[in-house]
Amino acid sequence: MFTIKKTKSGDKLKEAIEKISGVDLSVCLQCRKCSSGCPVGKLAKSRPSELIRRLQLNAGNELLESDLLWMCVSCETCSARCPMGIDVAAVMDALRKMALVRRASKQQGNVPLFNKAFLKTVEIFGRTYEIAMIAAYKLGTGKFMNDTEKFPTMVKKGKISLLPSFSGDRKTVKRIFKKTKNNKEAGI
Ligand code: SF4
Ligand code: SF4
Repeated sequence: MFTIKKTKSGDKLKEAIEKISGVDLSVCLQCRKCSSGCPVGKLAKSRPSELIRRLQLNAGNELLESDLLWMCVSCETCSARCPMGIDVAAVMDALRKMALVRRASKQQGNVPLFNKAFLKTVEIFGRTYEIAMIAAYKLGTGKFMNDTEKFPTMVKKGKISLLPSFSGDRKTVKRIFKKTKNNKEAGI
């Protein structure tokens, strides 16, 4: 059972999510296969199928405060299980983007900060660069000494490289970021 506050922002949110994700939300038949396979569905207050239903019913910006958005691990199980071919993971991505653009008030913990640090390194280096990402994340949290004891082992095991490795196609990556920023400025 959930409450939908019917507001004008609902229509615009649904339109924006469909445009960003490329998903036609109207074809969802609420079979809930996406939710039954979601590894974090049981931990969050809402499931993927519920978010889709709420969008179908023109929920407004309150939908952007769902904890599932920031617990989702982008595993794409939901998309793989959907009998209607809906890319549910792309809908989750689109909702996260809109939560940031519209500054949703209840983002969970430091996940948005981590997300931002990760994306910034991809934008600069064309792929993720762990050291820069960790530095940006720690600057944001102010907790500089957290987990530092793991650092030598991770370097030794090759899980973190000290130098960045640039993507061969940084131009394409930069173009994607530019397009995303243009969409953001256009409010979609
Ligand atoms: S699996 Fe697909 S059709 Fe079924 S509820 Fe989820 S999004 Fe809708
Ligand atoms: S992509 Fe996100 S919403 Fe979909 S199954 Fe994985 S964790 Fe759940």
